Amino acid sequence: VMCIRDVYKNFGATPVLKGISLEVKKGEVVAIIGPSGGGKSTLLRCLTLLENIERGTLTYGDVCVAHDDARTAEKLGSSGAITSVYAPKEVLSKARSAFGLVFQQFNLFPHMSVLRNITDPLIRVDHVPAEQAKQRAYELLGKMGLAHKADAVPCELSGGQKQRVAIARALAKKPSILYFDEPTSALDPELTRDVLNVIQDLAREHMTMVIVTHEMSFARDVADRIIFMDGGVIVEQGSAHQVIDSPREERTRAFLSTFS
Ligand code: ATP
Ligand code: MG
Repeated sequence: VMCIRDVYKNFGATPVLKGISLEVKKGEVVAIIGPSGGGKSTLLRCLTLLENIERGTLTYGDVCVAHDDARTAEKLGSSGAITSVYAPKEVLSKARSAFGLVFQQFNLFPHMSVLRNITDPLIRVDHVPAEQAKQRAYELLGKMGLAHKADAVPCELSGGQKQRVAIARALAKKPSILYFDEPTSALDPELTRDVLNVIQDLAREHMTMVIVTHEMSFARDVADRIIFMDGGVIVEQGSAHQVIDSPREERTRAFLSTFS
């Protein structure tokens, strides 16, 4: 579904991603864990085209979104300057419809009803007919246990409900991959459970997902693969059993010991 090769990202002179390669297959659930400042959010922002990468290749399905320009790379040598070339706008907007993103903060439109929060982008960005958008929104709200909140505005919802609306909105455009950046870290523990259950249900339906999380037991339950990221690189990856129960790398061990 999604593949990146040797991705580099700097903020100013500071390298934040230092050669990340990652492939996510259809139906796979990948959890990314790691200490603060390790580059997890930056990686998701690059994958969702909110940030440009400096170097490397990014593809969705068979759509090449960004690739290294070999000729420029040769001219610049290994100076670390920009060599990644992005596809034309039309290709990028096609790629954008392939993924959904759910942030830690719910990013709902505060002045719109729950229903319109879901239908508006569908109608305006994806050109789905209004009736169809509404039907899809009700279906998803039902699935999230929120059909009765369709006419509420976001400030009338709990944090967990807001986050489930955000998930419904991300699902509404039928993405082939869904990204989550710490979807529960702004929530109280009892609301966290509801949101994690929704994600767990999606995993059972074989939704392809990449989830940045600090919830180790959730990561263990839901993920087919765990990636430990630190200092802008993937330090190690494998099954939950491999990475969480018997990490090979000292850095992983040190990070995990802060949870027990
Ligand atoms: P956390 O677990 O705290 O969310 P993270 O792994 O998501 O951490 P990032 O947010 O990706 O980490 O940040 C990685 C590094 O990039 C940090 O050193 C951060 O200060 C820096 N950084 C992130 N965004 C920017 C930005 N817009 N401008 C400059 N530096 C940034
Ligand atoms: Mg982050």
